[in-house]
Amino acid sequence: MKQVAVLGATGSIGASALDVIARHPQRFRASVLAAHRKVDELVALCVRFKPDLAVIADAALEASLRDKLAAAGSSTRAAAGQAALAEAVSGDLCDSVVAAIVGAAGLESTLAAARAGKRLLLANKESVVMAGPLLLDAVRDGGGELIPVDSEHNAIFQCLPASQSNRGRPELGAAGVRRILLTASGGPFRGKKRADLAAITPDQACAHPKWSMGRKISVDSATLMNKGLEVIEAHWLFGATPAQIEVVVHPQSLVHSLVEYADGSVLAQLGNPDMRTALAHALAWPERIRAGVAPLDLVAAGSLQFEAPDRDTFRCLDLAYRALAAGGTAPTVLNAANEVAVAAFLEGSLPFLAIPELIEATLDAISAEPVAGIEHLLHVDLTARRTAQIKMQRGFC
Ligand code: NAD
Ligand code: MG
Repeated sequence: MKQVAVLGATGSIGASALDVIARHPQRFRASVLAAHRKVDELVALCVRFKPDLAVIADAALEASLRDKLAAAGSSTRAAAGQAALAEAVSGDLCDSVVAAIVGAAGLESTLAAARAGKRLLLANKESVVMAGPLLLDAVRDGGGELIPVDSEHNAIFQCLPASQSNRGRPELGAAGVRRILLTASGGPFRGKKRADLAAITPDQACAHPKWSMGRKISVDSATLMNKGLEVIEAHWLFGATPAQIEVVVHPQSLVHSLVEYADGSVLAQLGNPDMRTALAHALAWPERIRAGVAPLDLVAAGSLQFEAPDRDTFRCLDLAYRALAAGGTAPTVLNAANEVAVAAFLEGSLPFLAIPELIEATLDAISAEPVAGIEHLLHVDLTARRTAQIKMQRGFC
């Protein structure tokens, strides 16, 4: 029986992970569940899944969590705060960790799980964007495994030779790989031009045509920053140079990504757009288990389209390539500025088209430095957030 910690249990990925776990009660048990502030939802999950420990990241809610667990007759222990999250994934309570917290808030617990040698099911792409080399070092030193859950990276993992998929920073060329083709749905505004996007509302941006996801990643998909973050993620996870990663828009979202080999072979992973496939793969790897996902009906799908991304309208993709080329702390700055911009857009205080402008202005203001360690990155993250906030207050655009 594998004990699984689900961080971000109340979110979209958390729900999909728990759905797969519930389908295999002889194989998996949710032993730790963690959420940010939704105490009632977390307690309801504890009643259903009976984990050993529930962690609420907002430390002010510890008493509320404890009282509500007791009132619900649950024997799950309660803990609170970021340190408790890291502790929960480091000890004997779990073998595998679903890292599904959204944003930089997931970095500390993701790193802790890696250091502790757990199987890390990585959905929290922001942590690899912020701290790719440190995370890979932690996986290597901890002796565990990193299985990507982001659907594109999970697809690439499946299409790479087995020996290549689970090593830190491999040489792709040595394995005969020529390129990685990262597919993108194009988001809800595919085909639109800048003039069409001036008055976009948060609800319009979050209405993704193919995937049902949390609001932050939905906005990232609408700006194409999600693909930009994924280019950086692919760079670190698979040792691909920027030139070896090509983004291809594929509106049907059935081909989740492809790997091209030197002999001209191109391997793809296909499936319905449902994150339970990647989660089931990552939970059971190298075995295969049911995920509750409907079989892919290619005849019903009809045709598969592929097109180049519109980089002029969706400028975030090039900003991510720029940060990757600058290296060092630049992706951390990119990620922090994007988180500030997306939060402001979702609150209604920043127009959709200003998201790339704010990110660009923040990248311009903070020069890239070599990464000295985690404290350094956290400092850069904070500086970039403050810089972006100040620029926003001054009405930079
Ligand atoms: P979501 O908003 O639905 O859920 C986020 C979860 O993180 C919630 O459980 C919330 O309680 C928790 N959380 C938020 N802030 C926190 C904090 N400060 N401390 C601790 N916990 C916190 O988001 P999601 O769509 O499930 O995405 C989660 C992660 O997975 C993101 O990094 C996203 O990019 C990645 N991802 C999601 C999908 C998808 O289909 N939803 C696909 C690929 C990758
Ligand atoms: Mg993805």
